[in-house]
Amino acid sequence: MHKNFKNIDKVCYGRGSFSQLGDILQTKRGENDGFIVFIVDNYFEGKELVNKLPLQDNDELLFIDVDPKEPTTEQVDEIRDKVLNKKGLPDGVVGIGGGSIMDIAKALSLMFTNEGSSTLYQGLNLVKKPGIYHLGIPTISGTGAECSMTAVLTGPEKKLGLKCDWTVFNQLILDPDLTTSVPRNQWFYTGMDTYIHCIESETGIFYNAFSKAYGEESLKLCREVFLGDHAGQNPENDEKLMIASLFGGLSLTYSEVGVCHALSYGLSKIFGYKHGFANCVAFNHLEDYYGEAVQEFKSMVERFNIKLPQGLSAGWSDEEITAMAEVAYNLPHMWTHALGYEWKDKITLKDIENLYRRL
Ligand code: NAD
Ligand code: ZN
Repeated sequence: MHKNFKNIDKVCYGRGSFSQLGDILQTKRGENDGFIVFIVDNYFEGKELVNKLPLQDNDELLFIDVDPKEPTTEQVDEIRDKVLNKKGLPDGVVGIGGGSIMDIAKALSLMFTNEGSSTLYQGLNLVKKPGIYHLGIPTISGTGAECSMTAVLTGPEKKLGLKCDWTVFNQLILDPDLTTSVPRNQWFYTGMDTYIHCIESETGIFYNAFSKAYGEESLKLCREVFLGDHAGQNPENDEKLMIASLFGGLSLTYSEVGVCHALSYGLSKIFGYKHGFANCVAFNHLEDYYGEAVQEFKSMVERFNIKLPQGLSAGWSDEEITAMAEVAYNLPHMWTHALGYEWKDKITLKDIENLYRRL
């Protein structure tokens, strides 16, 4: 079966494109109970961007703290209940922030129309009804959450996305100017998410011409941003990394992530490590799976003087290592991509525990 991929409906790209938000929303106003919910990363509270939001009287502006933990099912359910009880059904949801806010906005859009807890919908095509109009404005580049079909949430039992066609944003505004303030370490970790997406996408059985076209272009841009003569955070690279993130995400859409992301999910679920950081911690030790790419990754780490923690596993209990390995083992699509359909003959829970012991 070939994937039948749902793309974003509309994309507005370019420095300064944020100023078009008001006009874009105007066409959606009045579709439900006459207000828009703005979900904004609390980094922007009190900043210039908030003054430029096209807020109307009845709109709801919510600042969300995405640190230190990743978005949860409980958090999404709470926001949904609060808004529905206070004002009814919004005309749309606008998410402004990094991958965490993208996922919260996507999940909220679905949860406004689907009853019960979001835990019921963690998985593929479990969502029953289309959500409400949702618009994403990323302020960090790298996760690909702006274009993916999944809204990743951590629930009491699992870290898993609400994945279906309706999850995908109706509209993106990609304004690289919004990413200039990202602190350097965060810029690196989230940027590396894209690099790792592309490497994992190409290292597995689901790789194909579609994934390759987007993945190769994304990798080329990543290399310019993180290794080239003009590497570093600057306006030109902000533009490049934003497109690298989008293309990396599109590459994955038709392929898969692999060993690194499986391990990363375990680190996030058990220790709450942020996604980009967790990927870097794992990828650094996966030379036998990703070969020269790990060397290249290390040269980028060195170039930006990033201090990745070493010897982490010495501080973990056997129970914690087993718990992480179980989270990773339960992501069969990633292992299938990386090792083939017979992956269970090639790797065991114990082997995965040993991968964690390398970190
Ligand atoms: P993030 O959204 O968690 O934000 C990281 C930090 O950067 C926060 O402190 C935030 O306040 C700050 N920040 C955001 N924008 C800023 C700006 N412009 N200037 C200064 N600070 C800013 O980081 P992320 O790496 O973009 O997202 C990670 C999340 O994305 C994880 O929850 C992960 O599960 C999710 N994710 C989802 C997908 C998907 O396909 N849905 C893919 C990859 C990752
Ligand atoms: Zn990722």
